[in-house]
Amino acid sequence: MTVSYLSIGSNLGDRHQNIKSAIKKIKSLKGTHILKISRIIETEPVGGPAGQKRFLNACLKIDTKFSPRSLLHKLEIIERQLGRKNTVRWGARTMDLDILFYGNKVIRQKDLTIPHKRLFKRDFVLEPLSEIIW
Ligand code: ADP
Ligand code: MG
Repeated sequence: MTVSYLSIGSNLGDRHQNIKSAIKKIKSLKGTHILKISRIIETEPVGGPAGQKRFLNACLKIDTKFSPRSLLHKLEIIERQLGRKNTVRWGARTMDLDILFYGNKVIRQKDLTIPHKRLFKRDFVLEPLSEIIW
């Protein structure tokens, strides 16, 4: 089992419900337990196309038996189940699930960077993360 930190974001549809559903789905992943859940905060969109709605963001502390890559795959499935369609970078989305940390692993691959590349530039991640980091 490895402790991992995830970020959750939504700025389309019923954002609260999207976040609740994502948490429920993560909770029901095999061999995965939720250890802590941050508060949900409302944030201005950063980057991406102009005119986007505000996001709701939260962070989770979990432990999981999945490898980083399998975990990413599971999260991508949940994003799609929650209706994420467009893959415009930093664009509007019903659900964005990112892996912030995975144990003390450092991964630098094209489609998977851990710790998350933009984590330290994103207050909307750092603020909820700081509530649950211990
Ligand atoms: P962002 O999450 O930066 O707003 P996207 O969700 O559109 O952007 O980007 C998704 C891509 O980021 C995925 O295809 C995935 O391969 C890649 N990626 C790289 N590192 C991570 C990570 N730590 N967590 C989630 N996705 C990651
Ligand atoms: Mg993402």
